[in-house]
This record gives sequence, C-alpha cells and structure tokens, in this order.
Amino acid sequence: MVVIGGDAAEMTAASRVRREQPEHEIVVFERGKHASYSACGMPYRIGGQVESEEDLIARKPEVFREKQHIDVRIRHEVTEIDPKNKRVKVKNKITIPTLIMHGKKDKICSFDLAEQMKASILNSHLVVFEKSGHSLFLEETEKFNRELIKFAETQKKA
Ligand SMILES: Cc1cc2nc3c(=O)[nH]c(=O)nc-3n(C[C@H](O)[C@H](O)[C@H](O)COP(=O)(O)OP(=O)(O)OC[C@H]3O[C@@H](n4cnc5c(N)ncnc54)[C@H](O)[C@@H]3O)c2cc1C
Repeated sequence: MVVIGGDAAEMTAASRVRREQPEHEIVVFERGKHASYSACGMPYRIGGQVESEEDLIARKPEVFREKQHIDVRIRHEVTEIDPKNKRVKVKNKITIPTLIMHGKKDKICSFDLAEQMKASILNSHLVVFEKSGHSLFLEETEKFNRELIKFAETQKKA
C-alpha cells in the first residue's frame, strides 16, 4: 500500500491497515521533513508555550519503521498518481548508495539532521562519530578515512 502524506489522517490509515493486514508492505511518502506531527500544536510553538518544533512530533519515521514496519519516507513528494496502473511518481530524490557521516557532538548540524537524512535517502548508511563535532574529518581522521574506504570498497563489490 502506498500512502501519500504522513500526518494525522495518513499515519492513522497506515497504522490501521498494519493492524488488520500485518503481511502488507506499507510505504508512506511525506514531502515535508516530519511525519506524524501535531499541526494543532503549531500556534503553541509560535506563541512560545511549546519550546521546540521537536516537541510537536508524535512519532518519528524510524519508530514507525521499527515498531510497525511502516516504511515512512520523509522529503519524498508524490507528483503523479496513475491509479489504473497502480503507480505513483515520486519527485527525484537521491537513490544512489550514500554514506552519511556525522559527529555526535556537532553543534552546527544537530544529530537529528543526520537521522532525517538517513530516513529520507533510501539507500543510505549512517556512521556516527561519537567523539567528534562538526569537523569529524579533522577530529577522527583515521576513522573517517577507514569508513570512507570501507564504503567505497563495498560499492566496488556491489
Ligand atoms: C493551527 C491548527 C490548529 C488545529 N486545531 C485543531 C483542533 O483543535 N482540533 C482538531 O481536530 N483539528 C485541528 N487541526 C486540524 C488537524 O491538525 C488536522 O485535522 C490534521 O492535521 C489533518 O491531518 P491530515 O493528515 O488530514 O492533513 P494534513 O495535516 O494537511 O497532512 C497532509 C500531509 O500530506 C503531505 N502531502 C501533501 N501532498 C503531498 C504529496 N504530493 N506528496 C507527499 N506528501 C504530501 C503534507 O506535507 C502533509 O504532511 C488544526 C490544524 C491547524 C493547522
């Protein structure tokens, strides 16, 4: 089943189908950067009662994936629906194997961004550098080179 959109109605539908038909493959395409967020809570975020955007997110894509086996793909926009052939066209996204390397202590780009990237790039692999910040290639040079070579070698074999 393909679900277009990943907010309240769409994730409710996907979850319902998952409960009733556990064997079905379910893929959700959400063009935004979050799934299952509280649109109703936005005024509270603007008004300052809710501290961060993150507090409006009920469930992250990885939780849907792990707990309900629903494949939520954020930053994927459906541009065409072909009901006759049961196909949808999804706006061009990165599909080539992609290595994402992220320093856990990065204060410029938060770890959440790395997780979001991992969730939105289908064929991606995330390597976390626990001891590094933004300049992980300087902070953990050996590990950086090792991971890069390992990834390149894997691609050569594939
Ligand atoms: C300020 C505010 C206050 C609200 N207060 C209440 C309230 O008090 N009580 C209440 O019951 N409801 C309230 N609502 C409404 C409630 O949030 C909506 O009912 C709910 O968001 C509807 O969810 P939905 O999934 O149907 O649609 P939407 O929230 O519109 O979600 C649609 C999703 O589909 C995605 N999408 C659209 N087109 C595409 C595409 N082509 N490809 C991929 N993805 C796509 C969008 O990015 C979006 O995430 C409020 C809404 C707002 C904005």
